[in-house]
Amino acid sequence: MLKAITGTKDILPTEIQRWKYLEKVVEEIFTSFNYKEIRTPVFEETALFARSIGEETDIVGKEMYTFIDKGKTSLTLKPEMTASVVRAFIEHSLGKYQSLNKFFYISPMFRQERPQAGRQRQFHQFGGEALGSTSPLLDAEIIIIVYKILSGLGLKDLTVKLNSLGVPGSRENYKNLLREFLNDSKDKLSGDSRKRLDQNVLRIFDSKVESDQEILKSAPFLIDYIDEESRTDFEVVKNLLKQSNIPFEIDPKLVRGLDYYTKTTFEIVSGKVGSQSALCGGGRYDLLVEQLGGEPTPGVGFAAGMERILFACENEQSLNLPEENIDLYIIKLDKNLSSKVFDLALYFRKGDLVVDYDYLDRSVKAQMREANKFNARYVLFIGGDEFQSGKLNLKNMGTGEQKLIGLDNYSEIINLVRK
Ligand code: AMP
Repeated sequence: MLKAITGTKDILPTEIQRWKYLEKVVEEIFTSFNYKEIRTPVFEETALFARSIGEETDIVGKEMYTFIDKGKTSLTLKPEMTASVVRAFIEHSLGKYQSLNKFFYISPMFRQERPQAGRQRQFHQFGGEALGSTSPLLDAEIIIIVYKILSGLGLKDLTVKLNSLGVPGSRENYKNLLREFLNDSKDKLSGDSRKRLDQNVLRIFDSKVESDQEILKSAPFLIDYIDEESRTDFEVVKNLLKQSNIPFEIDPKLVRGLDYYTKTTFEIVSGKVGSQSALCGGGRYDLLVEQLGGEPTPGVGFAAGMERILFACENEQSLNLPEENIDLYIIKLDKNLSSKVFDLALYFRKGDLVVDYDYLDRSVKAQMREANKFNARYVLFIGGDEFQSGKLNLKNMGTGEQKLIGLDNYSEIINLVRK
């Protein structure tokens, strides 16, 4: 039997209502902050991700779905969205038309990770990116947006973790310090971390090996070495969050698994989703646009994992969505009325009703069962003596009330059924 690829999942009609609800909340909250939606292709040139996310990161080093197409170009299914948004921003010179651009997106992402609870190979993220200002107001805004979305979904067990990585200049001194510190335990580090010691020492913080994390426990913290400007901005971000009643904690080990971050980084974790607890992550990336060939343009953004968020909603039972129903189910009492039912259904649908009927010539009892399965608010019987005398019988399934309506008065049915 052919099956979905390991690490991918079908989203079945029974789950769609939750997804749509999440998408609606995302869209409404972003729109209220004047973020505009952007959609980019599912694949890009591999170089885009290698140059932005960083060669030594887990994503680029191990997890990308990369393939050579027939034109011999190396392409990659997007593992994250910031690089694509920045590529589009540069390509279309969006900074020329507007000095500050605020984008949001909802999109599938692809990473060849070991599938486990909360980790898929195709998953979905929504996120936001604000390009064009170094103002810490935007750092706070971005965090507030995602916090609002998560709490708007009824999630309660949330922790905002905050850190600042400073600017690359101040980070260099720290990297030397960290390298010196780790050199003492070099032999005890995992193979990957030993390699990163020379190539990209900060990435050792991303190690999933427990003994590496044990060694890192007593490592110096980057936040103690950041530059003055980053420190001041960080204070502003913290104050803005406090004044907006967003609870947060400082996590000096939060360096995030991507190379392009500067200054503020953050994650929001849930206590309700098991070991893969991060629902979202983000931060500032003031040098990325320039690094990808654009005019120097600072930016800040985040990405949130939709599967994990929906899982958290399920575990906290935070979404009380109404039961899905249809407006009207038409039941035919005589088989030869099929084309009449077909016409009637089209007419009612034009009146904005959600309408269905039986296509399998089933018994009246089976049609009634189907109407109940679809949770029909009304059932319309067509056929029998009533039909002969020019009438249809409309039944309100909630109250049980029935009403005979003249065959020349279909619009009354629309009015009655409309909520
Ligand atoms: P990142 O782009 O790595 O900063 O991830 C942002 C968010 O996307 C994470 O906090 C997760 O919620 C989600 N995420 C990342 N990787 C995966 C994955 N493989 N499967 C499911 N969700 C993921």
